[in-house]
Amino acid sequence: MSDKVFDILIVGSGLSSLIFAEEYLKKKSKLHMISPSFNNKNINVSKLKVDYKTLPPQLKKNFNQIQDYFNFNKFNFDKNNCNLLGSLGFGGLSNYWGLQMDKDSDSDLDSYGNQIKKQIIKNFIEILKEKSLSGSYKNYSNDFKMDKFYEKLLSKKDRNFIINKSILALNNLNNKKKVNELRPNLIFKKIKNKLVVHNYFLEKIEKKKNLLKLSCINKNQSKFFLTKKLVLAGGTLSTTKLIMNYLNIKYEVPIKHHPRLMSVYLGRNKILSNLKMTPGLLQIKNIKENFSGDVRPANEMIIDISLKIYSIFKPFKGILMFLKNYIFFSNTLLSSKYSNLFIKKEKNNFQIYSKQKNTLKILKEKQKLILSYLKKKGIIFPFYKNFFPGIGGDYHYFGTILPGNSKLSVNKNCQLNNNKAIYIIDGSVINFKKNLYPLGLVMANAKRIAKIIKKK
Ligand SMILES: Cc1cc2nc3c(=O)[nH]c(=O)nc-3n(C[C@H](O)[C@H](O)[C@H](O)COP(=O)(O)OP(=O)(O)OC[C@H]3O[C@@H](n4cnc5c(N)ncnc54)[C@H](O)[C@@H]3O)c2cc1C
Repeated sequence: MSDKVFDILIVGSGLSSLIFAEEYLKKKSKLHMISPSFNNKNINVSKLKVDYKTLPPQLKKNFNQIQDYFNFNKFNFDKNNCNLLGSLGFGGLSNYWGLQMDKDSDSDLDSYGNQIKKQIIKNFIEILKEKSLSGSYKNYSNDFKMDKFYEKLLSKKDRNFIINKSILALNNLNNKKKVNELRPNLIFKKIKNKLVVHNYFLEKIEKKKNLLKLSCINKNQSKFFLTKKLVLAGGTLSTTKLIMNYLNIKYEVPIKHHPRLMSVYLGRNKILSNLKMTPGLLQIKNIKENFSGDVRPANEMIIDISLKIYSIFKPFKGILMFLKNYIFFSNTLLSSKYSNLFIKKEKNNFQIYSKQKNTLKILKEKQKLILSYLKKKGIIFPFYKNFFPGIGGDYHYFGTILPGNSKLSVNKNCQLNNNKAIYIIDGSVINFKKNLYPLGLVMANAKRIAKIIKKK
């Protein structure tokens, strides 16, 4: 065992962790991080290449790359019952997305009370400004514009839907400069001289007098770390499991998420896109009920992947490329009230499963409503193809360890009530009801907690 006692250790290298690290290191000179990157035997931080992939291996039907995540976490799930994604790559799940963020968020923070809600929103605006992201939110705004046809539709209320521009994790699209994205590797580059990454996977947390003992492993060896404070940012599934183990919770814990259905449409008007991975540029939100669709134009990478799956269309690649700005992908996302994932300890493993059988039926009902809105507004032609990625194939996992008084809960500073030396800063601590694209607020909360901890 190493005798060294760390003041603080952070677990995970996803965006919640890196935003925390970036803020913390504005005042402090070093931060130690535990995050595995098993393709790099000895992480040489200055040379570390972030494994930046634009589509998750799930969609490419490549499960090998994510097996480590499930094996090391001792997670079991049956692909016919649910479909999950987790990454042990440096940068976490955010290596895979084309991120959009939701404006509809304030009421999701109610359990933190008004004052902290304001602080989280203030931190979100700071992130938007620091990274000059595209879109507008409260007092932040830039001149990010869409094609004229879509600009005219924006914010025009219909009886059932409103159409909004998303906030995008990209620099303002009108800016002629190279488009910068809010990617883990870019933050990492900025802070790498002050960050020490330990290439280990955290297996177990134990209390040792007034310290925490962390049992870690990698593919070759095991190691223990002792720390005064621990910040967990390993993503909701991993953090929830570690805390359930620490508190010896044997009962079933519901995991909140946003069930997702993907659809392809043919647009009547092209939509602006000069990006490798296109996030949803527009969000179509139901006014009465909480569900949404988005609109994102295709790009060469998505077309290539679709052609791998539907190889009979391969000879038509040229036509598809010509039409790519007219081929729209859309995600129908349901409110977390339709969550259908659960986690329970069984012997030494953690079983993740779904129970309700009607998730796909509800998704299809809501997609039909979005489809009729898109038709009515002249956005698409009246045909489509749906693709269901499975229950949990939405990759938005959250809301397992909320502020409150139960055993499995945190206080408003996101410290575990059972042990204030453990801070949780990923999606576990927020219950997203209205906000259907959660990462913006997760990052904002992580930044808030970094400010609290660096003052101590
Ligand atoms: C294809 C795709 C599209 C998405 N699109 C959007 C979107 O448009 N908008 C949105 O808001 N969200 C989106 N998401 C979700 C978003 O990426 C996640 O919410 C986000 O990655 C969560 O960040 P995180 O830092 O909390 O966790 P993660 O990114 O999951 O990072 C967890 C980190 O912890 C490490 N780790 C895990 N377990 C351990 C352990 N036991 N020990 C040590 N380290 C560990 C991992 O290696 C990783 O570095 C998308 C996700 C995917 C996959």
